[in-house]
Amino acid sequence: MRYARCAHPFTEKADLSMTTAELLDALIDIRGKLTEGRSLCDLTWLRVGGPAELLFQPADLEDLQNFLKQLPEEVPVFPMGVGSNLIVRDGGLPGVVIRLGRGFNGIDVNGNTVTAGTAALDAHVAKKAADAGLDLTFLRTIPGSIGGAVRMNAGCYGAYVADVFVSATVVLRNGSLQELTAEDLQFQYRQTELPEGAVLVAATFTAESGDAEALRRRMADQIAKRDSSQPTKDRSAGSTFRNPAGFSSTGKADDVMELKAWKVIDDAGMRGAILGGAQMSEMHSNFLINAGGATAADLEGLGELVRKKVYENSGIWLEWEIKRIGKALTV
Ligand SMILES: Cc1cc2nc3c(=O)[nH]c(=O)nc-3n(C[C@H](O)[C@H](O)[C@H](O)COP(=O)(O)OP(=O)(O)OC[C@H]3O[C@@H](n4cnc5c(N)ncnc54)[C@H](O)[C@@H]3O)c2cc1C
Repeated sequence: MRYARCAHPFTEKADLSMTTAELLDALIDIRGKLTEGRSLCDLTWLRVGGPAELLFQPADLEDLQNFLKQLPEEVPVFPMGVGSNLIVRDGGLPGVVIRLGRGFNGIDVNGNTVTAGTAALDAHVAKKAADAGLDLTFLRTIPGSIGGAVRMNAGCYGAYVADVFVSATVVLRNGSLQELTAEDLQFQYRQTELPEGAVLVAATFTAESGDAEALRRRMADQIAKRDSSQPTKDRSAGSTFRNPAGFSSTGKADDVMELKAWKVIDDAGMRGAILGGAQMSEMHSNFLINAGGATAADLEGLGELVRKKVYENSGIWLEWEIKRIGKALTV
């Protein structure tokens, strides 16, 4: 992994009826860790971004519910996973960022279903399922948590979370618990619908049976395949842009081609392009990497430059797949 330095910006405050100090004083019986002005830089894969006004790491489910119940409703809440699909802007995030940890990472196998806490890593869930002879192998090479996987309908090698999803449990912004079905979540490509501020805490999947050894071999093959085609040793957030929907150069349906984002980026001459510490990977041109010392502004700026060049070259506006959150640094 290349070295990437975190920038040191300041926090933007949420527009609250009370100060952060008053808010902290008002919260009763919180057992988790609440940190003011916590940098999110080291909590994201790209190693950029400013601080959360408050970062809350609940001890367990009851603690999370108690916290959200007491938190004034005007305080914005952003649940994050392990930050493998995020650019946090340099000015940071107003309100509360919630990051789940040990109290939310259990994995239980029961017959052909697997229930995991949303802090569990996708790779751990895939391995534990394989040990039990269940095929969730597609999760093995996705570097996120189960919360992020459900939220983003993560997928690869022909399988998406939506294909195996049974149900999920969320804590709503008012602290109450709710079970969500696939219909509630409305799975789409790399996207679901979740109520504002809701935190996913567990998810249940169904999986086909398979031979444990064969499943392990498949996962090893997938790791090797990824390492040979993607910059897995660099700081990235996976695919930067969605693959454009079918595009017809003549406007006729017969000419519709499935376009790959990396191809239109290559065609626009942007493979390897650099802005500050940000670079479009030489190995895979749809991967935006922190090549060393990048700020979020470098990364987002390069992404926007790529979008512009691709539009000028092929008439296609690429859509971001990486989520960009927070405020730009104002000087
Ligand atoms: C090298 C690399 C390869 C990748 N390959 C793939 C791939 O093949 N397929 C793929 O789909 N993705 C891929 N990704 C992207 C990323 O790993 C996935 O989108 C992943 O599911 C994000 O999970 P996370 O825990 O990191 O979520 P984060 O990046 O932290 O957050 C992503 C979104 O999920 C939400 N979220 C996270 N946890 C919760 C929760 N508990 N409750 C509510 N919302 C939550 C956040 O609010 C945010 O909107 C790759 C990334 C990298 C760095």
